[in-house]
Amino acid sequence: MSHVIVVGSGIVGLAVAARLAARGDEVTVLEKEDGLALHQTGRNSGVIHSGLYYAPGSLKATMATAGARSMVAYARAKGVAVDVCGKLVVATTPAEVPQLEKLAGRAEANGVSARRLTPAEAREHEPHVRAVAALRVDSTGIVDYPGVCRALAADVEAAGGRILFGEEVLAARTVADAPGTPGRVEVRTSRADREADALVVCAGLHADRVARACGLDPEARIVPFRGEYFELTPEAGEQVRGLIYPVPDPRFPFLGVHLTRGIEGHVHAGPNAVLALAREGYTWTDVSPRDLADSLAWPGLWRLAARNLVPGAAEVGRSLSKHAFARSLSRLVPGISAGDLVPAPAGVRAQALRRDGGLVDDFLVQSEGRQVHVLNAPSPAATASLEIARHIVEQLDAAVPAARAA
Ligand SMILES: Cc1cc2nc3c(=O)[nH]c(=O)nc-3n(C[C@H](O)[C@H](O)[C@H](O)COP(=O)(O)OP(=O)(O)OC[C@H]3O[C@@H](n4cnc5c(N)ncnc54)[C@H](O)[C@@H]3O)c2cc1C
Repeated sequence: MSHVIVVGSGIVGLAVAARLAARGDEVTVLEKEDGLALHQTGRNSGVIHSGLYYAPGSLKATMATAGARSMVAYARAKGVAVDVCGKLVVATTPAEVPQLEKLAGRAEANGVSARRLTPAEAREHEPHVRAVAALRVDSTGIVDYPGVCRALAADVEAAGGRILFGEEVLAARTVADAPGTPGRVEVRTSRADREADALVVCAGLHADRVARACGLDPEARIVPFRGEYFELTPEAGEQVRGLIYPVPDPRFPFLGVHLTRGIEGHVHAGPNAVLALAREGYTWTDVSPRDLADSLAWPGLWRLAARNLVPGAAEVGRSLSKHAFARSLSRLVPGISAGDLVPAPAGVRAQALRRDGGLVDDFLVQSEGRQVHVLNAPSPAATASLEIARHIVEQLDAAVPAARAA
């Protein structure tokens, strides 16, 4: 049995902790906040993605398709609210049809069943939608991710693991194996000095900083992109039965504002994507001089901005104007107007960005010594979290064979 410290009680950290605890490892989860899932995991769209969008063969593609199944099975087994309701991706102009066709091809390559629908067939699913063509994906679902986290935390504790809140990990170092003495990891936190056989860091928006404080030198930096949401008023919400997505703009990394009937029954609209002025910057007035200086000093951000001036400006416009936000939604469902939108809490995406301005597209997990760090786990990492956990534990066993055998 090994003692493993896991940093972060988002869905990835908890999935890793539950997997380790289930096989008999001693697990301590350290979380700087006072509760579970308070950042990305508790502030997302709540969608179980099918694996439709991702490059064939990538970790995202394989782990989202497998993860969609394992997440649904886990939620059902634990009594967490989940519904495999399917979704519609709609082309609203003839110009979007070739991109919709590409998406259909990608679905096929990823083994995701996606049916092409005529406008009339699309309206059988969503009577108020505007579409010149559509794709129907039956395996997409919605789930209560914080509920999944509570179930994972209960699994950790039932297997003897501990979750300690209000304890921020500040630094760590691996002490190498010596003859007769297995190595270890020394961890310094805001509360104590700790030791373990291994360390797994799932720190989301702080992944790169924690990695540097633990002696790694990650090539990419986390740049925080806020995603803002509105909720539709109950009357306007009647125009939406399930999940309606636009055809994603291939030049832009995010999926575009969409309409999602959440597991609690309300219809959410969003998220857009604007640079957050703090890593945990949920509104324009949340500003961290340190975080902002870090983002602005990273050459990758300027290169990304230069390549995305027009869509980037449109996103800021949508953030500042409810009317602009409503216009984007009315392309999908023509009846929606600004008066139908009620502000809802935002989320911030942790997106790793390389120096050359390229987004790290795939999930990225790096091992060094007795440490494993998750350096990029944006969407669909909540969907894929149980599969990411399997992958991390394999990496941990490869990195720390002695500890596993101990
Ligand atoms: C707007 C938005 C919409 C999204 N929609 C979806 C979706 O519909 N479906 C989907 O699959 N994915 C979606 N995602 C992505 C998904 O939410 C994330 O990929 C996933 O939640 C990542 O989980 P995590 O555990 O890595 O990070 P987090 O949930 O951010 O957890 C990281 C945790 O680490 C803690 N931490 C950080 N630093 C330290 C430290 N030094 N010491 C101790 N603790 C620390 C933080 O407090 C936090 O609790 C969305 C994301 C956003 C932002």
